[in-house]
Amino acid sequence: MYYEFQFGNLFLILGVIALSKWLEDKLISQHTRQWLVDTVLASFLFAMLLFLHTEVVTFKNIGSGAYSFDWTFLNIQLILYIFMAVTVRSSVGRGFLIGVGLLFYWERGFFSYWYSWPTLIAALAIAMVISHFGEQLLKHVWQIYLSAVVMCIPVWIAVGTATDGDQLGDWAVNFAIFSGQFILVNAFNVRLRRDYNRELMLTKQANFDDLTGIKNFRAFNNDLSQQYDEFKETQNQFILVMMDIDHFKAINDTYGHLVGNSVLKQTATALNELAKEADPDAYAYRVGGEEFGILLPVKPGDELWTRRLCQQIQTKIRQQRLMLPKTTINWTISIGCDYSSLKDEGCLEIYRRADKNLYHSKENGRDAITIQGTMMEG
Ligand code: GH3
Ligand code: MG
Ligand code: MG
Repeated sequence: MYYEFQFGNLFLILGVIALSKWLEDKLISQHTRQWLVDTVLASFLFAMLLFLHTEVVTFKNIGSGAYSFDWTFLNIQLILYIFMAVTVRSSVGRGFLIGVGLLFYWERGFFSYWYSWPTLIAALAIAMVISHFGEQLLKHVWQIYLSAVVMCIPVWIAVGTATDGDQLGDWAVNFAIFSGQFILVNAFNVRLRRDYNRELMLTKQANFDDLTGIKNFRAFNNDLSQQYDEFKETQNQFILVMMDIDHFKAINDTYGHLVGNSVLKQTATALNELAKEADPDAYAYRVGGEEFGILLPVKPGDELWTRRLCQQIQTKIRQQRLMLPKTTINWTISIGCDYSSLKDEGCLEIYRRADKNLYHSKENGRDAITIQGTMMEG
């Protein structure tokens, strides 16, 4: 037996997993679609499986004891395959995973034995289950270990029956080695994922408002500056809608801060929904205490659309109700909106204009809409 190879390959696998996690993070941070992320990852891991296979072939050709090599590499290949099942989440990725399974069997020559077929079906079915429950399984090491072993048994049977001269002792040793390797690799993977999730949580905390759950001023600043840069490059115009709840201090003073907080939450949710309806990629931001903003792309010259949107915001806020034990309250919002302009020197200029429009609405009776310096009727 060639146990020393197990060590070298273990490091190879750890490297592959670290690299694929890095690749996944990179793609996700660029907002790549899930199916594409899965396909890239599965292709990468498949390339690694093939690479390992060429190693098997090379060793087979230069030395004796071919079946021991087979065992050694098979374990590593299986660990990679299971890891792939854990990683892949979309249906496209799963389709790819089945393809990889078929190729894996084919390149190892299992198809020539009729009894390999049921083992293949069993292994693929279990891989699909792992892929479906991957994230949940990862929470408990024994769960993922058990599913991995269950997935491997049919494949081990296929190899064991396809390889002559195999002894029970080899099988037991390989099983022990597999278990050790799998637990190590899984611990490493869980650790990587935990770090990544912590990073995600910190990013979320930094960009979202604790009280209302919508994006905060920091995210607003970033997104505004990004939209502005894109606009300078592509000339795709956008609008900024600034909003401020009317007489909010009175709500606080009359009903208390907790009621004020509920009004803020309800307003934020309503505005975020409207932003999403107008454009699935858009958000509402809480830019101050009771001030909100929405950034939206617009078609050139489509001023009617902008007016309708502002009216929708106004109406939706007028319709909000908050039930209190003795009374029901409603409130209004003042709106200021402006367009991005190629004459602007920086992203803050549209902010300044929209804010000025908002104050125009405030000074002219509140519950009003001002777009590019002109107040709307009604
Ligand atoms: P206007 O119509 O001119 O906008 O009047 P207003 O009362 O809405 O404006 P003002 O700026 O006088 O008051 C805003 C209040 O918002 C003051 C502040 O205590 C309150 N506020 C800011 N952040 C929060 C918060 O997180 N929760 C609650 N309950 N109140 C907040
Ligand atoms: Mg206010
Ligand atoms: Mg204010």
